[in-house]
Amino acid sequence: MVLYKPQKIYIEKAARPYPLTEKILTRLPGVPCEEIENAHALMAEIRTHRDPIGEGKRLLFLAYDKGRSFKPFPEAAQYLSCDYFTLHVAEGCDLECSYCILQAYLTNPLLTVFVNIEEMLFNLEAVLASNPDRFFRIGTGQLADSLSLDHLTGFSEILVPFFARQKNAVLELKTKSSNIERLKALNPAGKAIVSWSMNSRRVQQQEEHKCATLEERLACAEEMAARPGWRVAFHFDPILDYPDWEKEYAEVFREIFTAVPHEKIAWVSLGCLRMMPQLKPIMEERFPKSDAADAEWITGMDGKLRYFKPRRIEIYQQAVSLIRQWAPAVTIYLSMESPEVWERVFGKPVTKQDVCALLDRAGKSIAS
Ligand code: SF4
Repeated sequence: MVLYKPQKIYIEKAARPYPLTEKILTRLPGVPCEEIENAHALMAEIRTHRDPIGEGKRLLFLAYDKGRSFKPFPEAAQYLSCDYFTLHVAEGCDLECSYCILQAYLTNPLLTVFVNIEEMLFNLEAVLASNPDRFFRIGTGQLADSLSLDHLTGFSEILVPFFARQKNAVLELKTKSSNIERLKALNPAGKAIVSWSMNSRRVQQQEEHKCATLEERLACAEEMAARPGWRVAFHFDPILDYPDWEKEYAEVFREIFTAVPHEKIAWVSLGCLRMMPQLKPIMEERFPKSDAADAEWITGMDGKLRYFKPRRIEIYQQAVSLIRQWAPAVTIYLSMESPEVWERVFGKPVTKQDVCALLDRAGKSIAS
């Protein structure tokens, strides 16, 4: 994959004094940059473009985070969630997946990096220390790709040693990139997991633009799983329903579970495509060749468009059974599904506490 380079850098005035700002600028020689008081006028100008989302991705905004960086992942009461936390070090993504929820979710179109990372980690360390009996699973990949900008930000070199020192937390770096160069020199002592969002080959080629190919993602996963202290994970989210989907996903399951040692896989998640209603017209406008939105939808209990429940259950049952053929003991969970769907897929009632305990156990097991 081609690594990201912005057309222009904007620096928020409050972000100027931070060492990370300087580092990022030295990694982008020749790219024009401009200091601005804040991004309000710039965002308003971008919104006048024909494709504000695409325009925002071309501009890198170095910003100061005002203390909202660590928070629980938003949950919907009707679906089983897992008490996941996000560390909000960046916002927006340079990659271009047709189905990306950020297109509808983010009001800020700029590709934004928060440079006061040390302050964020200072605050996070205080939270972890004041909750010694609680285990935290924390990811940076909810509003951004965790690694696609790592050649510029070097966040991994700051975050991985920080988490290696923590007793009660594990970091998940979630990506569709092959940008693992900086990770190779790090040993997280079991406290960091690098996870790849995977899909069928067809979906990757048709819907996941600018991302690493499946082959590249799998090669990176194999390489990281072989490195001391690292574990990997895989997210099949979103799974798309189309004729013969199971044959194409089965091929990728086989490739993963015959290549990566199972004891190095922290977890595998499954989630059928779902979207905020506002995303559908954006997808259709920005990705006219995509047919991902051409499905029969119902409005779920969280207001998102989802495949019909019986179909989701069927898809998960088939996916779990296909994965189990290759990896009978790997931890599998469903992403934002109802207790009823969990029960139908795994054959027993499951509570939120069960899901949290399952993932805490998987998160705590230390890789050698
Ligand atoms: S990699 Fe993730 S965050 Fe980036 S465009 Fe694709 S879905 Fe969105």
